[in-house]
Amino acid sequence: MYFRKLIVGPLQTNCYILACKKSKEAIVIDPGGEKEVEIIINDLKENNLNLRYIINTHGHIDHILGNKLLKESTQASLLIHQLDADSLLQEINEKFSIFLGKEVSSPSPDRFLVDGEEINLGSLKLKVIHTPGHTPGGISLLVKEVIFTGDTLFAGGIGRTDLPGGSYFDLLNSIKERLLVLDDAITIYPGHGPASTIGWERKNNPFLK
Ligand SMILES: [Zn+2]
Ligand SMILES: [Zn+2]
Repeated sequence: MYFRKLIVGPLQTNCYILACKKSKEAIVIDPGGEKEVEIIINDLKENNLNLRYIINTHGHIDHILGNKLLKESTQASLLIHQLDADSLLQEINEKFSIFLGKEVSSPSPDRFLVDGEEINLGSLKLKVIHTPGHTPGGISLLVKEVIFTGDTLFAGGIGRTDLPGGSYFDLLNSIKERLLVLDDAITIYPGHGPASTIGWERKNNPFLK
């Protein structure tokens, strides 16, 4: 599996490039910066990768800012959970342009991610796990022994729930019932900050005591 982590955009979001080394098919998770899209595209070119999907773990602006440029340059399909597509992507199109002082928008998703579905990427299978709480349509993505948790679970932290649509109850439920049930050895790659493991978080995360 090809893997690269980039830190992108105004809020230092982790963007991940994943690919099947055999088929050369790739996905990009959370292209949260416009400037860094060029780095992503160069990386794909250098490694001879064909971008199939852009996946947003959720619809917050710091995870979707590069959607438009990246999609226009690659023709990849944009995927997000319906509950974040309806509220956040739309809202961002309408409101954030004013907030940022320039035109910001995301294309509409090509289709919605559904809990439990498996996306085939060459020899890799990516499993979608709906993990609401930080946002209603937040998802985590399990690939072999690695999980991308967006802003649901961080190394030593959990996502904030004070933004519109957030729910502390749902977040804890998602983490405990859907993430901590996975194997200890699985590596967590969150939406911000360093990596961790399921086992370490189950034992040590102060927000999960
Ligand atoms: Zn977020
Ligand atoms: Zn974020």
